[in-house]
Amino acid sequence: MFDSFIRLVREIYQTDAFIPLHAPRFLGNEKKYLNDVLDSTYVSTIGPYVERFEAEVAKFTGARYAVATVSGTAALHTALILAGVKPGEEVITQALTFTATANAVHYCGAEPVFIDVERSTLGMSVVALDRFLAERTERRGDYFFNKKTGKRIAACLPMHTFGHPCDIPGLLEVCRRYQLPLVEDAAEALGSRLNGKHCGTFGLLGAISFNGNKIMTTGGGGMILTDDENLAKEALHLTTTAKLPHPWQFVHDRIGFNYRMPNLNAALGVAQLESLPVYVQKKRALAQVYREWSRKHGFVSVDEPVSAASNYWLNALVLSDIQQRDEFLQFSLGQKVMTRPVWEPLNHLPAYRHCCHDGLTNTLWLADRLVNLPSSVTP
Ligand SMILES: *Cc1c(COP(=O)(O)O)cnc(C)c1O
Repeated sequence: MFDSFIRLVREIYQTDAFIPLHAPRFLGNEKKYLNDVLDSTYVSTIGPYVERFEAEVAKFTGARYAVATVSGTAALHTALILAGVKPGEEVITQALTFTATANAVHYCGAEPVFIDVERSTLGMSVVALDRFLAERTERRGDYFFNKKTGKRIAACLPMHTFGHPCDIPGLLEVCRRYQLPLVEDAAEALGSRLNGKHCGTFGLLGAISFNGNKIMTTGGGGMILTDDENLAKEALHLTTTAKLPHPWQFVHDRIGFNYRMPNLNAALGVAQLESLPVYVQKKRALAQVYREWSRKHGFVSVDEPVSAASNYWLNALVLSDIQQRDEFLQFSLGQKVMTRPVWEPLNHLPAYRHCCHDGLTNTLWLADRLVNLPSSVTP
C-alpha cells in the first residue's frame, strides 16, 4: 500500500529524484522584479514594492489594511502587542502548531495556555475554549483571570492548521462573551477562505507568513492584516522602530522593532502573488488526487471543513496509530519521498512544559497519527 503511494507521488511530480515536502516555484515575474529592485538600489525597507505588495495582499485577502514584516513570527509578535498583550499575562492558543505561535506570545513577556483542537479541522476547539474560560478563569472587573496562575487572559490565538480554516465564527462568539481580542495565526492559510471570507480577516488582527516553505514566499516575510485603521497605523509605526516622521530628526516615541519587510523581498512577493491563484488551484487538484488514493486504499485524508475553501498548503493523512505512522515515515523517507509527522505538541517542548493546558486529548491523538505528504505546487 505504501508502495502505491510512492508510485503516485513520483507520477505526480514526474521525477525519480528526491521529492521534498514543499519547494517554492519561481516561474513568473520574480527575476524581472528583483532586477528592477537591484537596478534601483532600493534593496532595503524603503521602496515601491513594499507598499505595492501590501496593497495587493489587502486586495487579495479583502483585509482593509496589510502591513508587511520580515517574518510571520514578527507579524504575530506585533499583532499580539497591538491586541494589548502585556508582560505577565496569558494568551490562549493551541499546542498543535508550529513553535512560532507560542514564541510570539513569549516575546510579549506573556505565557501561552494550550487548548485542545478539533479532530475534524485540526484547529482550536470551540467547546474546549468555552470550557476552559468557564471553568478555569474568573472575572475581576472587565477582565478574566486564570484561577490557577492569577494571570489575566489577554487574547486568543487560534491557528489555521495546514491551511484549513478553523471554526473561527464559533471561536469569535466565545471570545466576544469573554471580551477577548482574537488574533489569527493565518501563517499557513494564504488563499484559504471560510464562507467566502479570507483567513486572517475574521479576528481583530491576523498574521500571514511568506517563509520559503509556505504556499508563496518572499524568502522570509510576513504580513499583518486588520480592518482597523488605528491598528494598521500602529503596526507600521511599531515595525519601523517607532520613528516619528520628520525630515531630519531621529526621534522614536517608544522601543519599536526593525521588522519592516525589505523592498527586495516585497518584489519577490508581488511576483509570487500573481501566481497565487494558480498555486491554490493546483494544490486543490493535488488534494483531490491524494483524497481519491486514500479512499481507494483505506486511509483517512485531512479534508477541508464544510463551508471552507482551503489552500491545502500541506496535505495530510491520519494513520491508524503511531506504529503505522512510523512505518509510513520510514518507508517513504527510504524511498526519497519526504513525509513528516506533525509538530511535537508545544506543551512537550522544554520552553513550554510548565504552561497550563486542558489535557489536550485530541492534540495528543492527532500528534501520534498525522503525517504530511509532499505538497509543492505540481508541475
Ligand atoms: C510558518 C509559521 C509561522 C511563522 O512564520 P515565519 O515566517 O517562519 O516566521 C507561524 N505560525 C505558523 C503556524 C507557521 O506555520
